[in-house]
Amino acid sequence: MTYAGAIIAGSLEYGETLSTVANPATGGSAGEVATADAAACERAIGAARTAFADWAATPDADRQAAVSRCADIIEEHAETLAQLLTAEQGKPLNGMGARFEVGGAAAWTRHTATLSLPVEYVQDDDDTHIAIHRRPLGVVAAITPWNWPLMIAIWQIMPAIRAGNTVVIKPSPFTPLTTLKLVELLQEALPPGVLNAVAGPDALGAILTSHPDVAKVCFTGSTATGRKVMASAAPTVKRLTLELGGNDAGIVLPDADPAAIAEGLFWGAFINNGQTCAALKRLFVHDSIYDAVCDALVAYAAAVKTGPGTDEDSMLGPLQNEMQFQKVVRLVDEARASGARILTGGSPTPGNGLFYPITLVADAKPGMALVDDEQFGPALPIIRYTDVDEAIAAANAVDVGLGGSIWSSDIARARDLALQLECGTAWVNKHGAIRPDTPFGGVKASGFGVEFGPHGLGEFLSLRVLHD
Ligand code: NAD
Repeated sequence: MTYAGAIIAGSLEYGETLSTVANPATGGSAGEVATADAAACERAIGAARTAFADWAATPDADRQAAVSRCADIIEEHAETLAQLLTAEQGKPLNGMGARFEVGGAAAWTRHTATLSLPVEYVQDDDDTHIAIHRRPLGVVAAITPWNWPLMIAIWQIMPAIRAGNTVVIKPSPFTPLTTLKLVELLQEALPPGVLNAVAGPDALGAILTSHPDVAKVCFTGSTATGRKVMASAAPTVKRLTLELGGNDAGIVLPDADPAAIAEGLFWGAFINNGQTCAALKRLFVHDSIYDAVCDALVAYAAAVKTGPGTDEDSMLGPLQNEMQFQKVVRLVDEARASGARILTGGSPTPGNGLFYPITLVADAKPGMALVDDEQFGPALPIIRYTDVDEAIAAANAVDVGLGGSIWSSDIARARDLALQLECGTAWVNKHGAIRPDTPFGGVKASGFGVEFGPHGLGEFLSLRVLHD
């Protein structure tokens, strides 16, 4: 099937260049996109700019109702979206896979519909009136990655339009299909031009991030691209939300119960095959329970099936793209060559798909690229430590800081230590839990700005102070 590569002011537009979206489970095709070009990008920005005045002036209750209707539409088309997501992204239909992602997209949309940021008063008496109003910004460019394509599109689109902005979204060239389908379906709930999409090469992203008519860029992707986005947005001083890479640490204290925490550790690390920004990517375990934690993880992993996403019993699928697959192969091979022990997995699964097994790597150490770099795949390095202060220092010794976790039966101590982790969210006895009512974002080179809840909504609004 050929998808329109642009959706502009409610119309599907088919570009002249056809691009095949690969199905990572088979090496075959998940669909074709008639991709957008620079001219389509200009038209999309123009349509969003034209639609902005009316949308910004639309009564708040009507915008709330429109976002709520978007949630209904996602639910009505849940299975179509999930099947498409599995075909292009690879994740399984079940487990924390495609149906889970579609459900999350609907839930986030519904919650965003309920949000509001009322006028705040600093002083309001006979002397002085100071009121803080909020105003939408204008056209928002939304640029998304390939790991959670639908969920992340929703995280960017919904607060933007809820706040009265209009949007041009550019999905990753690896996973444009679900986003294009979503944007097409949502046209029913939104006036023309409020939500537009352009799918095509990375260069389209650079057009959006430098365009004078774009007021804000919401970017989720790698730190390397985030730096380019910042530079490109600088001449026109755009607002930015940058949700970039991470290398989250989890620290297991000696008093933790290995059997009780194995499941939480496993899914904290292996959700979406590790292709998750705030997945647990470096596991520090105290020497006294190191072997017991390794054994518990190996036992848990043995019961998790990796296979084609369309198999109803698969819990994990293939890696999403060849580049990512080769990165995981290299990092694990290098770790093994440097003396790390492979407890399970460790080499690609033969066949046409990009399958790499669940891989647990013991005796990993800082200095190995598997530890120092974001692997973004199903290979977890497990690092032995003896002094918790040294473990915290090692956890913080990277230039990124998205999430982190402490695992212990002493909650008060775990909380104290968790607050020493340099990251946007620190969890105790869990990793990666996010909610639509709780802000989420990074520190250091993981970016800035937060998503979700009133704090996230505020990122799509400017303050207008009235003082008399
Ligand atoms: P990427 O940076 O390669 O691509 C992300 C998006 O940017 C794609 O749509 C791409 O086409 C676009 N793009 C590429 N070059 C561009 C440019 N010069 N200007 C504007 N746009 C451009 O990232 P990816 O490989 O798709 O995603 C994986 C990365 O995303 C990982 O590092 C991961 O940690 C990060 N991520 C972060 C979060 C978070 O919330 N912090 C969430 C998911 C993923």
